Parts: sequence; structure tokens; C-alpha cells
Amino acid sequence: MTDRSSTAQSIDEDLAAVRHAIRTGHMIGGQWVEPDSATSATFETRSPLNWDAGPLALMARGDAQTAAAAVGAAVDGFTEWGAWTVHQRAEVLHRLADLIIEHTDDIAMLETLDMGFMHESMRARLVGRGATNFRLYADLMVEHTERAWNAKNLDHVVQRMPAGPAVVITPWNAPFMLSTWKLAPALAAGNTVVHKPAEWSPLSAGLLADLAQQAGMPPGAYNLAQGIGSEVGAALVADPRVRRITFTGSPETGRHIGHAAAENLVPFTAELGGKGPLVVLADADVDAAAHRAAWQFDDSGQVCLAGTRILVDESIRDDFMERFNHHADALALGDSRDPNTDIGPAVHPTHVDRIHGFVERAVAEGGRILRGGAPVSGSLHYQPTLIEPASNDAEIVQREVFGPVLTLQTFTDENEAVALANSTAYGLSAMVWTTSAERANRVGRAIRAGLVWVNAFLVRDLTAPFGGCGISGIGREGGDHALDFHSDLKTLMILDDTVH
Ligand code: NAD
Repeated sequence: MTDRSSTAQSIDEDLAAVRHAIRTGHMIGGQWVEPDSATSATFETRSPLNWDAGPLALMARGDAQTAAAAVGAAVDGFTEWGAWTVHQRAEVLHRLADLIIEHTDDIAMLETLDMGFMHESMRARLVGRGATNFRLYADLMVEHTERAWNAKNLDHVVQRMPAGPAVVITPWNAPFMLSTWKLAPALAAGNTVVHKPAEWSPLSAGLLADLAQQAGMPPGAYNLAQGIGSEVGAALVADPRVRRITFTGSPETGRHIGHAAAENLVPFTAELGGKGPLVVLADADVDAAAHRAAWQFDDSGQVCLAGTRILVDESIRDDFMERFNHHADALALGDSRDPNTDIGPAVHPTHVDRIHGFVERAVAEGGRILRGGAPVSGSLHYQPTLIEPASNDAEIVQREVFGPVLTLQTFTDENEAVALANSTAYGLSAMVWTTSAERANRVGRAIRAGLVWVNAFLVRDLTAPFGGCGISGIGREGGDHALDFHSDLKTLMILDDTVH
């Protein structure tokens, strides 16, 4: 493993190049509300690439008043945006997609500096994916025709009505892509939005709000409230004027938001954490499986869909481990801006401590470290870590770490593999590696998760349902599922021959 992680490189030049794209304020009713440093209503965002270089920006720190103003603007904005035709909305959303593509370099560098996301992956792939999210939902809405039929002497028409103001709360990992994924269906359906990005990576959301205004959103259609989750976030989800809440983050926060949604009887979707199994059956292409397993260290393991529990047939364990170590050894830790880097830093010093806490407790419980197991000194990298847990009940198996920490367990038959795969409270994603079509279907169907890949990972058609079972989530997004969530369906019935 190449380790260039401990020599923090300067971020000055790259920061200077994107300073023009940094928006530190809230966007409320089409106006920027700048941070008030005089009243210390700000928070810092720093770069995990060079934490000691000082703040990248001082961001506006919203409070209950900010939340009330943003929701008020979304209520006012709904009168106009909700009344636009789907074609008018589609035009603006396509323009926003065009602007995203035009600003690819700024978005990619902001995200890399702010969150440590791999720059090349952002520039070449994820910015475009964000633009595609807006195009996809704009087009899906246009394609939606109202269902009409006659029964019981009544002409029936099912109308899809925009639900109203929606609060969109997003996490710090892959912040740009995940935000577009949630904002696009809300806006395409005709809802106005208040977006609350995570406080550890707020910068790309500011630029996105700016581009939304440039694209021609009417005032109040697209609002942004920056700040801390327990402050402005909690106030937003508690506001009774909000008609939809869509959240991506941890199960712990999901519970808080679920309480607020229940209080106001507001429909709520939650995309929460994962602890995905990566099941390698005896007939698998072992090298392909081991390669993919080693790449679960990608993005420093800060991926909700990651297959972090490696489950391998006992009969191929040694072969698998040899290949896994070979692929893991080839991974280079380093600066996320360097195209030769495979693994960048974790997002925040607090998160590094959290990851290490999991590893220390795993060892205290009797787990055996097979590789890694410590933070890298002089940077926010954590060594890619593999642990043989003391038992399947160990915390390291049962709780999401959200860092580059995998566990290795073996099984002796298919039933045991499925039982282990289904043995946590999570159920977001899973991977199965096999060359048998019969086993692919049998094991794939037996696993309880929202997404199961066989011999693949991450690639997905965007119209497919997306979401988790168990504590991994409530509801489904993706394609029509997200549009259904953001709409109220109405059945209009007109008695035959009574209108002309
Ligand atoms: P988090 O739950 O700490 O925070 C998520 C967001 O919620 C942030 O914007 C935060 O400010 C806000 N928030 C916190 N407390 C709040 C409150 N009381 N009221 C309203 N908002 C509040 O999660 P995180 O640490 O930012 O993200 C990591 C988690 O997200 C992991 O569990 C990961 O698996 C999960 N995740 C899930 C998916 C998915 O699609 N299922 C995708 C990405 C991340």
C-alpha cells in the first residue's frame, strides 16, 4: 500500500481558484441572507485535505428564525411554482442541469476541498450524475399522463397534485450528488424546497442554490438554510407548514425527524445507514470478488451502500484472502486531488476518532485485526482495516462504522450465508458473488435489503426503486417512487351526462 497521506499539501491555490463559487449565506425567497459574524451566527467549514490550514469559509448558522423565514418563503413560492405547468418546470430544471455541467470544475473542486471527495471521480462522473438527476425527473414528470376511465357512470381522472413545501435534509458524504437526487423529484413534482445540507460539507449546496436561481426558479421555489442539524434542521422539520420531509442520514437522526414528522402528520422518507453483506459463494470468480471487496475502502468507506461485512465460503477463504490482500496492497492513500490516489482522508477529526473507537472496541471484544487498525498520523486518513470479529454479535458486525473498516466471516453452506447476511438490523444493500444463475436468484432473493447486486456494485438504473429495509430506511425513492412521494393523488369523478 502506498501511503502519501501524511504530507498535507497546500490548498491555497485550489481554494483561490474556486473562491468565486463559494456562497456562505442562506438563500431565502430568491435573496442571499449573509452570515452575521457580529453575532457569531456562523460556523466554520474546513478541508479534510489540510485541516490545519484554517477555515475554508465561515458559513451562515441558521436558527429557528431562519427556518421560519425559509419555510415562509417556500409557502409563498408554492403559489407560483406549484401552478406552473410540468413543461415550464421541466424547462427550468433542464437549464439547471446545463448550468451544473458548465460549472463542473467549480463543483468538483469545492466538493473535494470541503469533504475530501476524490476529485477525478467527482469531475468525471458525479457532477454529471447530478445534472442527470434534474433531467431525469423533468422528463419523467412530462411523460406522466393522467389516468382517465369511466366506471359506475362516472368519468374518473387521477390528478397528481404537488404536495407543498418540502424540507430536504442531506448528509456530508457525496453531498452534491445526494442533494440533487432528493431535490430534483421534489421540484419536478411542483413542490417548493428548503434544503438543509450537512454542516461538515456545506459548500456545493451554496453553489447549487445559486445555479438554481440563475436557471430561472421563481423566488421561494428553491430555498437553502445552512447550519447545524439540531438547530436549524430541527426547526425546519418541526414547522407545521411543511408538507413533505425527505431525509438522508443516520438512523439516529432519522428517529428525531420521524418524531417531528409524526407530530405534524407529514409524509416522510428516510434513506439511512447500511451494513451491507458482501457474500462470496464457493463458485464465485474469486479474484473479481476480492478486487471489489478491497475497493469497499473507496471514499474512505464513507459510503452507505458499501459491503462492509465480507462473508466468504470457508473452502475458498485462503484463496480469497491472498487476492484481497494483493488488491488492498495496491491501494494508494493520499490527497484526493491527486489522480494517483485511491483513498482520500476521512471527513473530520471527530469522525476519525469515531472510526477508531469502533476498532478499539472490536479488539476489546476479542476481534482480531487482519490489516490496518489505526489512524494515520499527520492526516485525517484511517488505515484500510480488516477485522475478524469475536462473534456475529460483536458491535463491529452489528453497527455501521462509516469508515474504511471491513469485517471478515466465513460460512459453510448457502443457508448459513443467507442467515449471516440477514443478521443485522440494517437492510440497505447487499452483494452476492457467484457464477451460478440459479444461486444468484436463490441467494439474491433470500437476502433482505432494498438493493442486491450480483457480481456488480453501485451501478443502477435511476428509475429503479431505492431505499432500505429495517433501520436502513422508510419509503422508496428513485424514478416514479420519488414523484409519488412528492405528490398528492386526487381522484376527480364527474357524473356522466351532467356536464357539457
Ligand atoms: P446525520 O444523521 O448526522 O446528519 C444528516 C443531516 O441531518 C445533516 O444535514 C444534519 O445537519 C441533519 N440533522 C442532524 N440532526 C438533526 C435534527 N435533529 N433535525 C433535523 N436535521 C438534523 O448523518 P451524517 O453523519 O451526515 O451522514 C452519515 C449517515 O448517512 C450514515 O449513517 C450513512 O449511511 C447515511 N447515508 C445514507 C444514505 C442512503 O441513501 N441510505 C446515503 C448517504 C448517507
